[in-house]
Amino acid sequence: ATMPPLLAAVAVSGRRGTLVKDVTVLEALAEVDTVVLDKTGTLTSGRPQVVSVTPLGSRRADELLALAGAAEAGSEHVLGRAVRAHALERGLHLPHAEGFTAVPGEGVRAVVGGRAVAVGRPELAGDVEVPGVAALQEAGRTAVVVLVDGEPAGVVGLSDEPRPGAATALAALRREVGGDPQVLTGDAERPARVLADRLGLTRVRAGLLPDDKVEVVRAEQARGRRVLAAGDGINDAPLLASADVGLVVSEGAGALSLEAADGVLTRDPLGSLAPLVVLARRARRIAR
Ligand code: ADP
Ligand code: MG
Repeated sequence: ATMPPLLAAVAVSGRRGTLVKDVTVLEALAEVDTVVLDKTGTLTSGRPQVVSVTPLGSRRADELLALAGAAEAGSEHVLGRAVRAHALERGLHLPHAEGFTAVPGEGVRAVVGGRAVAVGRPELAGDVEVPGVAALQEAGRTAVVVLVDGEPAGVVGLSDEPRPGAATALAALRREVGGDPQVLTGDAERPARVLADRLGLTRVRAGLLPDDKVEVVRAEQARGRRVLAAGDGINDAPLLASADVGLVVSEGAGALSLEAADGVLTRDPLGSLAPLVVLARRARRIAR
């Protein structure tokens, strides 16, 4: 017996590294007309590099980095992993951290050597403008602040390159799906704009918490749009769940959090999107 076209397309997409849960996902994919993309780890390589460590006050850079790296011990976030990896590469001894908590879209908290350490978005410092943050962001870097016992203790700057082939992949998406893919990010406006410019994207929504990303999707849907979202599984779960089709970027051995998603992008996550939509449309046409 021959396989029904939609089921056959599920198999084809799986071989291409886009694993969709079932045929209903392909049916929904055939209908999407709006694309929203997370920045960190989706548009970017997800292998950010620490480019600066700037303590405030009398603490040395290595002390600041050790505190931050220690606090990030339990982090699954690419930024957290990058901070920790950098501290270890520098040969620093990272003290044991207790009471680790991650707040999606915000950062992490832990107790390190009896001190409360927080690492995350600059807004964690409240209304205080932490010196160094603005200059990093202006240069297109992601700025992460470190607070010790509630006081700003320094800034870590990270750079994250666009994925190879991202601009081409996005041009194909624009052609096949129409409209301009939107960048949704928890990062600040400047670094998001710098990246978007490099990729030929103009629609950027920055400084969003995970629930704000859901609001953007709901607003599009209220206008009758069918939304395809791609993001990482750690703090984009609400975004992926709210989209008509939510695909989680999951390359390599990382934990698969498929619960909120309709499928997984395991290879070339940006490059595989337009061909997936085309495949879904073709399969549905044949099935009818
Ligand atoms: P994006 O939407 O671009 O994927 P996230 O929502 O994951 O970004 O994170 C938003 C911001 O929160 C980051 O730019 C960073 O400042 C901060 N942040 C989140 N998690 C962490 C972490 N584990 N360590 C440091 N900073 C973090
Ligand atoms: Mg993300």
